[in-house]
Amino acid sequence: MITNFQNADPELFLASLSPKDIVDSLTLNDVKNFLESLGVDQIVMNEEKEYLICPTICHNPIHEAESMKLYWYHNHKIFRCYTECNETMSIFELYRRYMSINEYPIDLEEAETYVRQFVAHAVLAAPRQREKEINLSQYKYDLNIPAPKVYNENALDCGIIYHHPAWLHDGIKPEVMNEFNIRFSIAQNKMLIPHYNINGQLIGIRGRAFEEDELEQGRKYSPVQIGNTLYTHPLQFNLYGIDKHKEGIEKRRSAIIVEAEKSVMIDHGFYGEYANTVACCGSTFNKYQINLLTNFCGASEIIIALDKEYEDWRTEKARKYRRKIEEACKKYRYQASFSYIWDYDNVLKEKDSPFDRGQEIFEYLYKNRVKVR
Ligand SMILES: [Zn+2]
Repeated sequence: MITNFQNADPELFLASLSPKDIVDSLTLNDVKNFLESLGVDQIVMNEEKEYLICPTICHNPIHEAESMKLYWYHNHKIFRCYTECNETMSIFELYRRYMSINEYPIDLEEAETYVRQFVAHAVLAAPRQREKEINLSQYKYDLNIPAPKVYNENALDCGIIYHHPAWLHDGIKPEVMNEFNIRFSIAQNKMLIPHYNINGQLIGIRGRAFEEDELEQGRKYSPVQIGNTLYTHPLQFNLYGIDKHKEGIEKRRSAIIVEAEKSVMIDHGFYGEYANTVACCGSTFNKYQINLLTNFCGASEIIIALDKEYEDWRTEKARKYRRKIEEACKKYRYQASFSYIWDYDNVLKEKDSPFDRGQEIFEYLYKNRVKVR
């Protein structure tokens, strides 16, 4: 049963909640916040009848989920998918499936830890303690982000310093790989990419695989296991590169959001201390990430530089993609001005990041970016 000591020590209180307590304590708004944190931007909420409808993220990767067939029934506290899954699932199970589809497999216990943070009344008092950790608080603090687990740096010692030819070929400079603490695991044949939070603490390690069978299984990028530990972390509560580029963002008052770690490192090679690119490690961004840029790093403009998901900008596919980017930006227009990179002149190939074709092409695209009004 839920007791009343949350005022005394919210963290202790949170830790004391059983999975059933967590589900019982969720409000409809908590569930909405939970979905938004996953990057879901279309949510229909019926407060009177106590249900909520969202795209089927239970069986589609987030950027492909469009059909509004996933329901949350608040009196039963359960999700139900009316298409492919055709079954009910708990909020934990939904999160587990979501993570696995988006290439971040976790177990149910980790899912519980994640959902636990959305029990709003309990979390309300929690941020105070975190404010001390983050030493950038001339900016208003209103992030309700749970502190991710911090790992020991020694984990990286299993990898050697090696500048993989594939990455050199892609334009990442050796000194930049060193600066981002990139290692290579001979045993696993993969690049180790440490992820740090804004304070420079290690919160996860992703691997870039080179083994044929891993590539065939679609595991080109996935969390790394070293010993018994899987170095996983909730990607949506961080931005890759924020620790290295917070000063560049502050100086330029702007930040660029890209999809992949590689683009962050290429940008660093271009602009050094003025580099201001961070990666959302997916194709969506959410309010936590926007808050991180505006409230902590002082960005007043945010430039969306996602991969080119179209061959020609005049096609219906491109138009649809463009609408999606604009709508995502408009949600946060009161926090910053937004613009996005758009390839009118076909200087990029399909699937390219705007950083993939060299500095000159990037600067051309950057100058011609489209403002969101
Ligand atoms: Zn489903």
